[in-house]
Amino acid sequence: MLIDSHAHIQGKEYAGEVEAVIARAREAGVEKIIAVGGAGDMSSNTEAISLAKTFPDIYATVGMHPHDAKDVGTDELKKLKELAADPKVIAVGETGLDYYYDHSPREVQRRVFAEFIHLAQETGLPIVVHERDAAQDVADLLRTEGGGTLRGVIHCFTGNYEAACAYLELGFYISFTGIITFKNAEPLREVVRRLPLERIFVETDSPYLTPVPHRGRRNEPAYVRYVGETIAKIKCVSLEEVARVTTQNVRELFGV
Ligand SMILES: [Zn+2]
Ligand SMILES: [Zn+2]
Repeated sequence: MLIDSHAHIQGKEYAGEVEAVIARAREAGVEKIIAVGGAGDMSSNTEAISLAKTFPDIYATVGMHPHDAKDVGTDELKKLKELAADPKVIAVGETGLDYYYDHSPREVQRRVFAEFIHLAQETGLPIVVHERDAAQDVADLLRTEGGGTLRGVIHCFTGNYEAACAYLELGFYISFTGIITFKNAEPLREVVRRLPLERIFVETDSPYLTPVPHRGRRNEPAYVRYVGETIAKIKCVSLEEVARVTTQNVRELFGV
């Protein structure tokens, strides 16, 4: 049984179909799904929580994507702190830094990311980090603001081996999406090969990043299986072994 450790199934892409999407995930051997808040606007957080309250195998996270860091003020942080107290909220995020798109000014992204690191520490929750082209700054902030006790996962990892090692040293897990199934992703598959399975998560980041052979269509948690199969092939182990270890990893961090 696999866990899709990062999916935005509360999104409008699944309106009216969530039940069917969850049923297909179960049939594909996906035992739990983490509904990640913060992609879009504040409502994505409350919607993730309401899904988690409806379905026992769904858990929620609360945060705000670095794209929208410019929209996070004192009121939003206060509201997120309240939401984080819900028993089905298992992490803070997604948050982080995205220097590829730069949808929010970098200075603002860094300030808000630091706020979320502090929220994770205050609440005792782990953190779900989005990082694109910002490995140095993310590692620096996790180190300087995290106080040495912060734990979490770098989701949708697309960096190099050195960046991955810096995160592992900080005690973080590394999560891979369907990108590792793409034809041109050989350098990333090489990173997978060199990392210990004991520090790896699998995720879909649904509705985005649909793995081969469904690439080009909407993604959904059932397809996390293709990510698991690709890791199994890279590491010359069975899918069952990948499922067993990555599920244990997610349980260890998120307590689900
Ligand atoms: Zn992300
Ligand atoms: Zn995401």
